[in-house]
Amino acid sequence: MRLSHYFLPLLRENPAEAQIVSHRLMLRAGMVRQSSAGIYSWLPLGLRVLRKIEGIVRAEQDAAGAQELLMPTVQPAELWRESGRYDDYGEEMLRIVDRHQRDMLYGPTNEELITDIFRHNIKTYRDLPKNLYHIQWKFRDEVRPRFGVMRGREFLMKDAYSFDLDLAGARRSYNKMFLAYLRTFARMGLKAIPMRADTGPIGGDLSHEFIILADTGESQVYCDSAWLETDVLSTDVTYEDDLEPFFRRWTSLYAATEEKHDAANCPVPAERLLAARGIEVGQIFFLGNKYSAAMNATVVGPAGEKIVPEMGCYGIGVSRLVGAIIEASNDDAGIIWPAGVAPFEAGLINLRAGDAACVDAADSLYATMNNAGIDTLYDDRAESAGTKFAGMDLIGLPWQVVVGPRGLQKGVVEVKNRGTGQREEMTAEAAINRLKAAP
Ligand code: ATP
Ligand code: MG
Repeated sequence: MRLSHYFLPLLRENPAEAQIVSHRLMLRAGMVRQSSAGIYSWLPLGLRVLRKIEGIVRAEQDAAGAQELLMPTVQPAELWRESGRYDDYGEEMLRIVDRHQRDMLYGPTNEELITDIFRHNIKTYRDLPKNLYHIQWKFRDEVRPRFGVMRGREFLMKDAYSFDLDLAGARRSYNKMFLAYLRTFARMGLKAIPMRADTGPIGGDLSHEFIILADTGESQVYCDSAWLETDVLSTDVTYEDDLEPFFRRWTSLYAATEEKHDAANCPVPAERLLAARGIEVGQIFFLGNKYSAAMNATVVGPAGEKIVPEMGCYGIGVSRLVGAIIEASNDDAGIIWPAGVAPFEAGLINLRAGDAACVDAADSLYATMNNAGIDTLYDDRAESAGTKFAGMDLIGLPWQVVVGPRGLQKGVVEVKNRGTGQREEMTAEAAINRLKAAP
């Protein structure tokens, strides 16, 4: 992509309305614009990151055996009357009346709708277990939307719902999602710690929140500092395995949210206990038959008996993750994207847009990078070197390749790693090989 054509409205100044670094940087890097409180438009650069995150979430859900569908954002109130939540949910629910005076709502979550789909289409025990998910916009009329996309009113969530014949099956489904979540967040360069959590209004009695530690987080959390040394991607386990040992191992290190933390009986010695702020990026719940029973969703068992399935639900804050990743990875100059979620793999800078030799060299390197499959943002504008460097640092692509007159005379370009800040001169060919070899 040539920057001269790209819609990337960068801001030089820190916007006054942004209180935390991720919100400031997302506005300055031209990723989002607010349309009303807690509701955002995603501009091209921000949308690329959102899609990358969605892609990782989708791949890991699919690998865990969940199947994607897509439910609507607008739901009928009658389903929520069946579960009793139409009244219970309170003011966070955006209620809508259609032209026929029917009560509708903009979905804050989807337990009722998925249970309705289930009861009309799944009739026998042979069809279980099932885990169905979608990645869809939600609306919650939060009292205090703030921190940009971290606490929005309209936000993108992945929500999965599992249906099992018995408790043991529900436990297997829960464990699969537990593993999928650890892998999902690790692939985004995040250390998300599974913490025993309250189930809140969703109900049920087993739940983990996945929390990344950050000073700007809204949750108070407590965990064993040994969590900081763990690496889940090194664990060799598959979804076909019995995941109970895996689950036990990854829950044996203490971690609890404030609601679950019991200071008097905490098993971790004081010098190892970390009290910190955290951002909730996902949560998983065992629901039992709360929704299936209330909504009369049953299947016929092997002896003709009625079975009320055991359910679980599993959410990931896809749009919140964009902010959360920036909170975890930035410096004074801007964002530092982990490779897996970066909007482009590399930025190419031509330092002298007025110099024919530089233009030729940069154009041809751009073509070679494209051919090599390196997704590149090419700053071909007639701006000063300082503006170009600052812009590239701000948007945080993992690699920068700089073409300038002095280097050209020596037959080299400069390659900078945004994360380490390390710069190195090398031939254009070596630069391409370096980028191709990068993870
Ligand atoms: P919170 O405690 O932050 O209000 P929640 O527990 O109500 O979140 P869940 O129902 O567990 O949220 O939703 C699943 C995920 O969706 C959360 O883990 C979070 O990452 C994300 N999420 C929830 N509310 C918002 C919001 N207002 N803006 C952005 N993301 C959100
Ligand atoms: Mg939650």
